[in-house]
Amino acid sequence: MIRIGIGYDVHRLVEGYPCVLGGVEIPFEKGLKGYSDADVLLHAICDALLGAVGEGDLGRHFPEGDPKWKGVSSLRLLEEVAMILLQKGYQVVNIDSVIIAEKPKVAPFVDPMKVNISRPLSIDPAAVSIKATTNEKIGFIGRGEGIAAQAVCLIERRG
Ligand SMILES: [Zn+2]
Repeated sequence: MIRIGIGYDVHRLVEGYPCVLGGVEIPFEKGLKGYSDADVLLHAICDALLGAVGEGDLGRHFPEGDPKWKGVSSLRLLEEVAMILLQKGYQVVNIDSVIIAEKPKVAPFVDPMKVNISRPLSIDPAAVSIKATTNEKIGFIGRGEGIAAQAVCLIERRG
């Protein structure tokens, strides 16, 4: 039995915050603002995985305002989501994702991101695809006010 999921997220880019994408802190003059570390890529992936098992979204499992999740690395959230999949008997087949950002350049950091994402899910880094595109200087992303990410996943029930 296979199922698919889709996830989308966006966070503001502001000064004074680290720019964490896929669990990697990228050197940049601005960072992503949110309740956790605002890792927009991991949030999109977590939402895709939760959607695939019919478990709603991140906001349902890790509500803003819960001190347990304030400032936490989103890799912790991914670990929790991985546990939910495991409990339901599902294994990730593959993940595809895209980061939509005018800046910074993320290509040099994609390989460590894939390792970070594959580890809690117990999958090969080759099963995680991360692409990046700009927004052609259009809209809030084009003006550098935020970064968005989209993800899809395929999961499979084992046993
Ligand atoms: Zn988010």
